Amino acid sequence: MKAVVLHAPGKLAVEAVPDPRILAPGDAIVRVRATAICGADLLPFHGLTPGFEAGTILGHEFAGEVVEVGPGVTAVKPGDRVVNTSMISDGTCPSCRAGRVTQCEGRSLFGYSGVYPRLDGGQAELVRVPQADRALRALPETVSDEAAIFLADVLPTGYGAVVRGDVREGDTVVVVGCGPVGLMAVLCAAPLAGRLIAVDGVPVRRELAARLGAEAVTPGDAADAVAAATGGLGADVVIEAAGSLGALDASLSLARGRGVVSVVGAHFEPDYPLDNGRMFERELTLRFSIGDPAADGTALLERLAAAEFDPTLVITHRMPLDDAAEAYRLFDSREATKVVLSA
Ligand SMILES: [Zn+2]
Repeated sequence: MKAVVLHAPGKLAVEAVPDPRILAPGDAIVRVRATAICGADLLPFHGLTPGFEAGTILGHEFAGEVVEVGPGVTAVKPGDRVVNTSMISDGTCPSCRAGRVTQCEGRSLFGYSGVYPRLDGGQAELVRVPQADRALRALPETVSDEAAIFLADVLPTGYGAVVRGDVREGDTVVVVGCGPVGLMAVLCAAPLAGRLIAVDGVPVRRELAARLGAEAVTPGDAADAVAAATGGLGADVVIEAAGSLGALDASLSLARGRGVVSVVGAHFEPDYPLDNGRMFERELTLRFSIGDPAADGTALLERLAAAEFDPTLVITHRMPLDDAAEAYRLFDSREATKVVLSA
């Protein structure tokens, strides 16, 4: 089969690799029909993921059809249309039993290695899905493959940013970074927020944020916009969805006293110089969270099926899997906001 293989930072190739096989009773094999590039894919792409193994197949967002299942799989069967959860979990460890599956002792992220045990990803024609009963979700006919991809990661992550940020009705909410996750946070915050300000340096991303219900501003205008919206107090909740130190700094400066900064941008820097004086003096709450498609996917799928919202609005590029190298270039340079590859 063909797959997107990362050989070294900046060096990926679409190439022939052996077809995946069932290795454990709980495995399934999925024939991928649509797969997306996520901002978190850019971290190994730039060599920023400690211990990443050369040769790992990328991608943690995919939808397709189950073609084979191991004898232990009961939740899905061959022929089912499915979407994945970005991470797998064992379902048996203390964290899983307590409902904290993103902290599972047996977790792995599709398309990653190093920070988690290697699990080849879904930017491929076929993908092996371990723990398939929990890592695959069957789809109704009314939800397209393209819409379903958003359930794998970015929609639950944006939703989680809003929930973990404790956004209340009428709050002033700022979303820093309008890549796919930030835009999903805008989508999920819009029905609740009194004022919703989205910050990004890329005009197309600001336009998309505005279509989803935010007032969109440049990073240079963010402080003034938040001050004007709040009488100088600062935002009730700031969602950091960029995953950069600059964005984290900006987020902490935009929150009001006793405000919440809810971080869903991916961070692996070990040495951030947190300003404890600011944290204490302003009584800030800083929360990091990993999107939890296993916990939040069911409700979000119902909302998708009911056409309550349409995350596919943020897809800017649709390309064949063969063009993955160009797709990564477009996404990395921010010429593309969300790329869907068809396998
Ligand atoms: Zn577990």
